[in-house]
Amino acid sequence: MAQQLTNCVFCKIIRDEEPGEKIYEDEDLTCIKDINPVSTHHYLILPKKHIRNAKTLQPEDSELYDKIVAAVDIISEKMNLDPGSTRTGFHWPPFNTVDHLHLHVISPIEKMNAVRKMMFNPNMFWFVSTDYVKSRLENCKL
Ligand SMILES: [Zn+2]
Ligand SMILES: [Zn+2]
Repeated sequence: MAQQLTNCVFCKIIRDEEPGEKIYEDEDLTCIKDINPVSTHHYLILPKKHIRNAKTLQPEDSELYDKIVAAVDIISEKMNLDPGSTRTGFHWPPFNTVDHLHLHVISPIEKMNAVRKMMFNPNMFWFVSTDYVKSRLENCKL
């Protein structure tokens, strides 16, 4: 069983102690619907291991990290998302919502309103792209 916290809402959903609409699950990850969707499709990919946020990812998590990013393709295929209008990214501390790492998958971008578009814009300092986190992880391995 992956390392989890007793009182974390996402850990509880992973353990089925809290309701959550799971659309995908494997041994390392769970993917749920966001309870406040900002577009037609809005999913959160969660590692089963409790990791606080993208900034606290450690080099030993890089394999798990790659699985999180690879799950975007699994979810896109499963839910029929158009990759060209799908946005993904992580909150960057201190702008977290829930302190359990989660990758947002939002589609289509066109249906988000202006405020949401800005909130989930991966070029902003409060929301970052999967590539940015990956390069940070690789740099701290050196
Ligand atoms: Zn957790
Ligand atoms: Zn979030």
